[in-house]
Amino acid sequence: MSASAAAAEILTKYEPVIGLEVHVQLGTKTKIFCSCPIEFGAAPNTNVCPVCLGLPGALPALNRKAVDLAIAAGLALHCRINPFSRFARKNYFYPDLPKGYQISQYDQPLAEHGYVDILTGEGKKRIGVTRVHMEDDAGKSIHDGFKDSDEYTYVDLNRSGTPLIEIVSEPDMRSADEAYAYLAEVKQILQYIGVSDCDMEKGQLRCDANVSLRPRGAEKFGTKAEVKNVNSFRYVKMALEYEIERQAELLDAGEKVVQETRLYDVDSGRTVSMRSKEHAHDYRYFPEPDLVPLRVSEHRLNEVRHSLPELPPDRRERYVNEYGLREYDAQVLTAARETGDYYEAAVRVSADGRATANWVVGDLMGLLKAAGKEIAESPVPPAHLGELVALINKGELSGKLAKEILPKMFEIGDAPSAIMEREGLKQISDSGALEKIVDDVIAANPKQVEQYKGGKTAVIGFLVGQVMKASRGQANPGAVNDVLKQKLG
Ligand code: ADP
Ligand code: ZN
Ligand code: MG
Repeated sequence: MSASAAAAEILTKYEPVIGLEVHVQLGTKTKIFCSCPIEFGAAPNTNVCPVCLGLPGALPALNRKAVDLAIAAGLALHCRINPFSRFARKNYFYPDLPKGYQISQYDQPLAEHGYVDILTGEGKKRIGVTRVHMEDDAGKSIHDGFKDSDEYTYVDLNRSGTPLIEIVSEPDMRSADEAYAYLAEVKQILQYIGVSDCDMEKGQLRCDANVSLRPRGAEKFGTKAEVKNVNSFRYVKMALEYEIERQAELLDAGEKVVQETRLYDVDSGRTVSMRSKEHAHDYRYFPEPDLVPLRVSEHRLNEVRHSLPELPPDRRERYVNEYGLREYDAQVLTAARETGDYYEAAVRVSADGRATANWVVGDLMGLLKAAGKEIAESPVPPAHLGELVALINKGELSGKLAKEILPKMFEIGDAPSAIMEREGLKQISDSGALEKIVDDVIAANPKQVEQYKGGKTAVIGFLVGQVMKASRGQANPGAVNDVLKQKLG
């Protein structure tokens, strides 16, 4: 049996149940409980102070901006923001955790009861968000291999005290693909609202995946395994697919899945046991005595709410309804906030949503891709693209000429009207100017003129073509048609 056939057979027998815990670094300039700067790639242990070094007696002070970003994330994930939440100490020992505890939130998190809608093969599906809470990040252990035949590990505490949110989902996903879609949606939303860049290569978004199997039709969840700290969406998907097979084999053999934490090994494509339940941490959570409870007033909540941009799903829907776009174009144009902003700025000038969408999704994106540029760096500002579309709609520019002009606009950054002016590319709609060309074409093609007059009126297409050619594509085909008909009687 092929691997995919085996996987399909597993799925007829068992239903996977998946819940994700996603850690996201908040995009603040400074740390969550001190004013040390956050700077990726800084020399090790240079952005540290007594607070984030965990020195005895140092007192944390909560970063206001971090709270605003966490509230924004909670709102965008449709959570209820608790007016009163609390920090708690999560105690454990690790060399990169000098305090000996992480400051997190436990029984009273900042935000709860939210959801994220994802698109699946069967349509829209709602995934519950259990909670969004704030916490600080630990430092980083760097396993640097061998030196003088001894193994060295270094500790860099620059990351210690970086503000994070943890987003815990309900166990609502039923396949690795749904988990992937959920992650992509969460990432898009958080990037959109400017909470985080979510750059996974810089560790700004990290995912723990929980997965269990239950027999199809069963209600009760099976025992789950947790795959920790997977650092790309693709690996999350692969780790889940591997885990589903591994657990199915155990269950088929009449064995039990052990509740444990596993790691995904990229090289072998397998998950391996890291610690079992017996060795699970007992974190001894207790309320953080150095911080007052976090109160979020109605006023502050409204301020954050009003600062939020329109979210991608709402924007998509509006593009379909307001501009009459196809679902696909609306999807492409709202994938990044900058793309939607560009598009809307262009439409303000063109007053034509559909045509502008075609130009952005087609020609402009093609040029950007070829130049390796993001839309925010487009050499064609949105107003110029809007002008191009408006010129076509006004009959001053043919679609064909517009296709030639756009790459020039891209290259030199000029407005379309400026390029048309300079190159004498104005579309000729004025009948006076057209008449001379039409007269020449009539004189040069007596045979076709004869045929037309004899009733073969389809031949006018040929004559229009000749005029277009003589005008180097600049004649307005509609106007040419009119002038020709009039001249031929
Ligand atoms: P733990 O106490 O082990 O941390 P939680 O109940 O806090 O477990 O859940 C952690 C994550 O695991 C959540 O995202 C949740 O949706 C998910 N989860 C819980 N139970 C299961 C299960 N039986 N199968 C798959 N995922 C689960
Ligand atoms: Zn510090
Ligand atoms: Mg938990």
